[in-house]
Amino acid sequence: MRRLFFLSLFLFLILVPQLEAALNVAIESPLDDSCFRVDTAVLVNVRYTCDQAGYSLIFKVDGIQKSSVNASQGVDIQQVFVWDANAAGVFTLTVELRKTGCYSASASIEATVFSVGLSGKTLLAKGKSTSLTATPTPGGLNGTYSWSVTQGSDKINLEGSGNTISVNGLNVSGLINDVVVKVEFTASGASAAASATHSLTVFDVEISEGGPNPPDPYIPVGGKRTYLAIVAPPSLDQAGPYTWSKSPSETEVISLYPVEYSCEVRADTYQTGSATLKARFDPGEEAYAEDSLGIFVFRPNIVVGEIGEGVETDTGAYLAKGGTKSCLLQLEGTLPPDETVTLTCDKTGKVSLWDGETPKSFPYQCAVSALPKNLTIKGEATSDTIRDITLTLTTARGGSDIAKITVFEIKLDWYDLSGEAKYDTGLYVPLNVDDDNNDTSLDKNQPNVFQENDLKKLIIRKPSPSSLSGFIALTISSGTGRIKLWENSETDTKKITEVSSENYDIAGDLQADTWLWVEGYDTSSIREVEIKLSYTAPDETIEEDKVKATVKIGTVLLDPGHGGTDSGAVGPTGLLEKEPNLNLASKLKTRLQNAGVEVNMTRSTDETVSLSERNRQTKEEYKPSFFFSIHNNAWENPVVRGTETFTTSVSYYELEDIFANQIQSKIHGVVLENDRGVKRYNYQVLRHSENGKTDGNLSETTFITNAISEDRLREDDFKEAVAEAMKKAILKVLVENISYPKQPNP
Ligand SMILES: [Zn+2]
Repeated sequence: MRRLFFLSLFLFLILVPQLEAALNVAIESPLDDSCFRVDTAVLVNVRYTCDQAGYSLIFKVDGIQKSSVNASQGVDIQQVFVWDANAAGVFTLTVELRKTGCYSASASIEATVFSVGLSGKTLLAKGKSTSLTATPTPGGLNGTYSWSVTQGSDKINLEGSGNTISVNGLNVSGLINDVVVKVEFTASGASAAASATHSLTVFDVEISEGGPNPPDPYIPVGGKRTYLAIVAPPSLDQAGPYTWSKSPSETEVISLYPVEYSCEVRADTYQTGSATLKARFDPGEEAYAEDSLGIFVFRPNIVVGEIGEGVETDTGAYLAKGGTKSCLLQLEGTLPPDETVTLTCDKTGKVSLWDGETPKSFPYQCAVSALPKNLTIKGEATSDTIRDITLTLTTARGGSDIAKITVFEIKLDWYDLSGEAKYDTGLYVPLNVDDDNNDTSLDKNQPNVFQENDLKKLIIRKPSPSSLSGFIALTISSGTGRIKLWENSETDTKKITEVSSENYDIAGDLQADTWLWVEGYDTSSIREVEIKLSYTAPDETIEEDKVKATVKIGTVLLDPGHGGTDSGAVGPTGLLEKEPNLNLASKLKTRLQNAGVEVNMTRSTDETVSLSERNRQTKEEYKPSFFFSIHNNAWENPVVRGTETFTTSVSYYELEDIFANQIQSKIHGVVLENDRGVKRYNYQVLRHSENGKTDGNLSETTFITNAISEDRLREDDFKEAVAEAMKKAILKVLVENISYPKQPNP
């Protein structure tokens, strides 16, 4: 069958031109282009020659008839077919010139109809890129691509050319798919371009605290902040999971407690430092946005004194009233340099604040950039209770640190000397000249010695605040052995115990002023004796208070009358007055020195010393508490006997009379001749205008011109007895009638 068919066709083709010679058809175009954009009209120009009637022109695309018209008779007739191609592809356009049942002539050409497609992701994170690809149909076409942004050109920009370009997200979308990219593709040989569009959403996520301001990245130790991941455009916020993380991941500076789009960040490990908080939003298409925030965990820190962090609230710092301690303000971690820290005090009357020598007031503020700041705290008034003063350091961004302070006072006073004088001049403690030195009881309880008022009292003041705890040590820190301290018992019997160093329990022993007797036991140099009260506070602060003392009963200048070429009076058997005068003075000197009196002499040997030289020694060299000139009397009548004591006659001091009366009575008490009494005479050595206003007496023990008395003056026992009487008289006045330091006469 098939072979027969081909044979028939061959015969037909051979026979037709012979029968019907003027039939042919040709397609000369598509008219303009070889390529057409889809959905445009394809114009097909057909030329044909047909000299017979009854033929039709049939237009087919890929063998499927699209239209037909009756063919005209004639030569080289032109006919245009129009085809609206609505799909892309390579098509065979065929025109047949035929009559029913009679195939005559045909011609074909190929035509390409093209379109373009655009593909890529629809989600683009701000700041990131994606690519879009234009794909022409049919495949393999060459041509040119033109890209444009037809909507939302402020939100993206395009980079590149050809069929694939890069899209960069610049700004976030307001709505989903509000960014439109268009590509136009013009195939080679085509005059019209095919186009396609693609919609995009540019999205982003930002870490926020929900308000209009940027998130605060500063968290105080122990504090927390809640951050939100805010998605734009907002309509996208349900689209994807949120992931919170910290960097470095192992950091313990912060802990994260995320719940979907919010995350609580806690500085709960009490470490300062910094870490990075990250939020990630994954709405799909493997597109995601991230934001990060540097978190700074800080802590204000106040340090008073040298105490550590735990101690500052536990025992607190101990600050002596009137004393100072360092107050260091510092910041651990980071805050903006212009941030301020504020130091407040809840009891501003009890402490004051100093920056060097400059007083500052509470609340005190300074910038973070000024930290660390070294200030000074001074104790102004004692605490009512332990740790009743709180200093608090805060910042405007939160966080606080406190330091507890106790202002305390311990005090050691003399009963009748306090303030600076108790240390500067010290107290003159009388030497207990009658001490029996067996020290089984205080000498005040022995007969015939000092009255209670003559003993000095040392007072340990009741500490403030009264709740102050710990121990106080009382020490004779210098001049040990010069004094003895005697504890006063609470009992009526006043049993006294000697103490030299003792610890007092503040809570138990010192709930009131506590006093001790002070006995001058041995003479000292000026302010040689120091008694120290020492308190060690729970924070190791050591505070001391001291008093000074001098154990002495004044100074005496002894003036043995005459000497050298001046023999003084002469006894009936030739005893020269200058000799017993010096002898008596020397014996008296020894006795007074043994009693703790500082003694000097205008002469110590048989030498000539002028009266003005004796005045000079008194006024300029020795400046004694008492000047005592020792003489023996003379008279024409050898019968005259007895004892006299002189004060100056010009203007005499009350103390000179007291001395003179004592000396007169004590000497007469052992000489037992005539009591010639106290007299006044203008002796040069006693003259106040020449002796520096020194209190002084001149004594005449007896009359050397009396033979019996002259003999007595040769006797050592007699002179020892007289010297002892003189000593007792002088000591009594030095101890009982003079307050030390002795004030100069006006
Ligand atoms: Zn004389």
